[in-house]
Amino acid sequence: MSEKNPITAKTKVLCLIGYPIEHSMSPIMHNAALKELNLDFIYLTFSINPKRLNLAVKGIKAFNILGFNVTMPFKQTIMKYLDEIEPFAKKIASVNTVKNNKGYLIGRNTDGVAAMKALSDVGYKIAGKNVLILGAGGASRAITYIIAQNANKIVIVNRTEKKAIKLANELKKNFCIQIEGKRYSNKVVKNEIGESNLLINATSIGLYPNIQSTPISQEHLHKDLFVYDLIYNPLETRLLKEAREAGCNVLGGLDMLVNQGALAFEWWTGKIPNKHLMKTQIIHHIE
Ligand code: NAP
Repeated sequence: MSEKNPITAKTKVLCLIGYPIEHSMSPIMHNAALKELNLDFIYLTFSINPKRLNLAVKGIKAFNILGFNVTMPFKQTIMKYLDEIEPFAKKIASVNTVKNNKGYLIGRNTDGVAAMKALSDVGYKIAGKNVLILGAGGASRAITYIIAQNANKIVIVNRTEKKAIKLANELKKNFCIQIEGKRYSNKVVKNEIGESNLLINATSIGLYPNIQSTPISQEHLHKDLFVYDLIYNPLETRLLKEAREAGCNVLGGLDMLVNQGALAFEWWTGKIPNKHLMKTQIIHHIE
């Protein structure tokens, strides 16, 4: 904290809980935006042993922490400790942001909206598109529920086949578009990718430190494909590099991260943060 923004007895606390948490970029972007707006808050991270999540939530209430983000592995398990869960978060069974209203905890999910805003900000329109999404975890659930509102077709492929099928079946009950869930394999990807317009990597394949891993062989990538990797560390994954070389338009996960951070920030403080500042702080830190 600088002299301009000293921590005082009145400073309010925001935080992120997860396990592990050491690689998170959230404190970097939130504290920069709080400082710029001269808000008397500090954003911290807490690495919580999964067996102690219940105690952590009691602590958050006792210390009157005004808001917190939730990351792996707590996006589902946090739900049983909350007093209210917004309908979209309940539907996708994943909470990434919580507001503490005098001890009453409200859970929200902003991952889907944040990811789609990043895509629309680069001018990409989902309407009528065929989407191939790799992964059926929390991020995939958040995004597919939004994409299904106006895509033409969604194919979900996942290492654990039953999760892909379950998600596809849920979506089919809610939306009238073509949706399939399949086991992740090179053959399935090869068969599906030809008629896909948008490929989304919602797995952790390629995430730091495993930066040499990639979910798709470069030979399957074609120039009519838009490739969106939700990973933001590294800023350019091997998948994105190879897609760019194959002539695809590409987008990484940094803007999604900044968007979800900005949505949380606004909900907690009532102020709109400087997203450009948040983004450049993260780039500076990663580089
Ligand atoms: P999650 O719920 O744990 O899901 C992880 C997914 O990755 C599952 O589908 C899992 O398959 C798959 N997976 C993991 N390791 C794999 C491997 N070796 N081979 C094949 N599949 C594998 O995590 P999540 O929250 O959805 O996050 C998914 C990705 O999105 C992560 O890379 C995360 O960093 C990124 N993300 C980015 C942002 C952002 O703001 N940019 C926000 C949220 C998430 P199984 O079901 O078979 O385990």
